[in-house]
Amino acid sequence: MISNKMQEALSKQIRMEMESGYIYLAMANDLHSIDMHGCARWMEKQAQEELKHAKRIYDAVQEFDGTVTFYAISQPDVHCETIREVFEKALAHEKKVTASINELVNLAMSEKDHATHAMLEWFVKEQVEEENQVMDILHRLKLAGDHGGALYFLDRELGERKES
Ligand code: MG
Repeated sequence: MISNKMQEALSKQIRMEMESGYIYLAMANDLHSIDMHGCARWMEKQAQEELKHAKRIYDAVQEFDGTVTFYAISQPDVHCETIREVFEKALAHEKKVTASINELVNLAMSEKDHATHAMLEWFVKEQVEEENQVMDILHRLKLAGDHGGALYFLDRELGERKES
């Protein structure tokens, strides 16, 4: 059985993952507004991934015989006018999520909660991947600069993103 403190911290992480989904959907909305529909589709997939992350933690809490508290999800505060701005904000957000996951790992260690610790390992690896993915896109955006043709191909490629 999971401790109340751990259960509460995991519930807050579920909220953060749900909020991430909401933020990425708002970013997709901004991307559609500037006609970067491929990037928008990439962001919509990212939003779906976040909902899966929330569900993964929810499932773990159930498995550990705990219960989830459903905290209120806040309104996303993102209004981006350029594609660079969107992905810079996405990277900053993922760094916040990584810090939060690391805090959870610290808590699981201090509580000697090995089951939660093992479950969180997947998230630690996932965060490395998430940050790398966004950094790669930012790098390519920097290379493309204001070159319309390069941005067109990047948008098309990102629009072909499959799962994860
Ligand atoms: Mg996530």
